[in-house]
Amino acid sequence: MDSWNSPAWPGLRIRPQLSKEKIEGCHICTSVTPGEPQVLLGKDKAFTYDFVFDLDTWQEQIYTTCVGKLIEGCFEGYNATVLAYGQTGAGKTYTMGTGFDMNISEDEQGIIPRAIGHLFSGIEERKRAAQSQGMAAPEFKVSAQFLELYNEEILDLFDSARDPDARHRKSNIKIHEDASGSIYTTGVTSRLISSQDELIQCLKQGALSRTTASTQMNVQSSRSHAIFTIHLCQMRVCTRPELVNGEVTSLLDGTQPTTEYETLTAKFHFVDLAGSERLKRTGATGERAKEGISINCGLLALGNVISALGDQSKKVVHVPYRDSKLTRLLQDSLGGNSQTIMIACVSPSDRDFMETLNTLKYANRARNI
Ligand code: ADP
Ligand code: MG
Repeated sequence: MDSWNSPAWPGLRIRPQLSKEKIEGCHICTSVTPGEPQVLLGKDKAFTYDFVFDLDTWQEQIYTTCVGKLIEGCFEGYNATVLAYGQTGAGKTYTMGTGFDMNISEDEQGIIPRAIGHLFSGIEERKRAAQSQGMAAPEFKVSAQFLELYNEEILDLFDSARDPDARHRKSNIKIHEDASGSIYTTGVTSRLISSQDELIQCLKQGALSRTTASTQMNVQSSRSHAIFTIHLCQMRVCTRPELVNGEVTSLLDGTQPTTEYETLTAKFHFVDLAGSERLKRTGATGERAKEGISINCGLLALGNVISALGDQSKKVVHVPYRDSKLTRLLQDSLGGNSQTIMIACVSPSDRDFMETLNTLKYANRARNI
C-alpha cells in the first residue's frame, strides 16, 4: 500500500450552502483550485490537502476516493480509522452517514452504510474466489460496537438503545491495552453480526438512541464524539506463510487444520467527532464550561497525537495517547500499521469564515508532517 508513512490523510469537504444561508444572503467564501487539491478561503488563504471535495461532490465520490481502500486493507488485517472533523453544521454526520433519516435515498448514503455494503460484498467475493480455485472458503466473523464519548465518559449506544435508562447510570466501560499493544474495551456491548441488513439496523438503532437521548437530556450531540467500530476476524488458507500478518491457528470450531490457516483481525473505527467550534468565553460556566474543556481536550489530544505520529521520523518518542479517552480508544488504529483518514468538513458561507479557518488549520497539522 502506498504512503503509509503518513499518519493521516487529510481530506477537505465543503458542503453546499443550506437554503437558510441562501435566504439570509450569505456569500460563498471558499473556492477550490481547478485540478488541484487546494482551497482558497477569502482572497488569500490557501491550503492544500490530500483530497479536496467542493460543494457539488457526491457521497459516492467521497467513499471511493477516501474510504474504499481502507476496507480492502481490513481484509489484509490492517486497522483503519475515518474521522469527521469540523464545526457543528459543517456536514460531519451527513458525511459519515450516522444521523441519516430512514427515508434517505441511496445516493445520499454516507460513508458507514457504504462501508458496510462493501464489507459484506467483499466477504462474499472472497468466499467465491476461494471456492472457484478449489480452496477452502475463508471464514469471517463480524462484530460491532457503538460508543459515545461525552465529557470523558464512555456511553454504550447499543446498551442505551436496549435500555434507555442505561444512559443515566455510570458506565463500567474500561479501556485496556494487551501485551501486543492492542486496545480493547470491557463492559461494552459487542454485537455479533451475520448480515449487511443486521449491521445497518444496529447502526440505525444506535444513531437513533444518540439523538433521542440527547434531546431528552437537553444535551447536544454536537458536544460528543460518536465512535462506530466494526471488528473483522478472518480465517483463511495461508498461501504465503512468510508474509503472514496474523498467526497460524486451529479452526474456529477448534479442530486442527489440515492445511495452514491464518487468522487476520482488523477493526475499523468511524468517528463523528464533536463540533470543533470554540465555546464562547461568556456564559460558559460550571457544567457547560467543563463540557467545553473536555471536548476540546479530545480534539486537542487528537491533533497532538497526529502531529507526534508525523514527527516520529524526527525522533518524537512520546505520543500522548493517554491525554484523552478518544485518543486512547483509537491508539492502535492511528499510525503504525493502520490507515487514517481525516475528513475536515466546512461550510462555504462567509458567516462561518473564522470557524472554517480554524478547521483548515487543524487539518493542515495532519498534513505538515
Ligand atoms: P454536523 O454533523 O457537522 O453538525 P450535519 O451533517 O448535521 O452537520 O449537516 C448540517 C446540515 O447540512 C444537515 O441538514 C445536512 O443534511 C446538511 N448537509 C451537510 N452536508 C451536506 C451535503 N454535502 N449535501 C447536502 N446537504 C448537506
Ligand atoms: Mg452531527
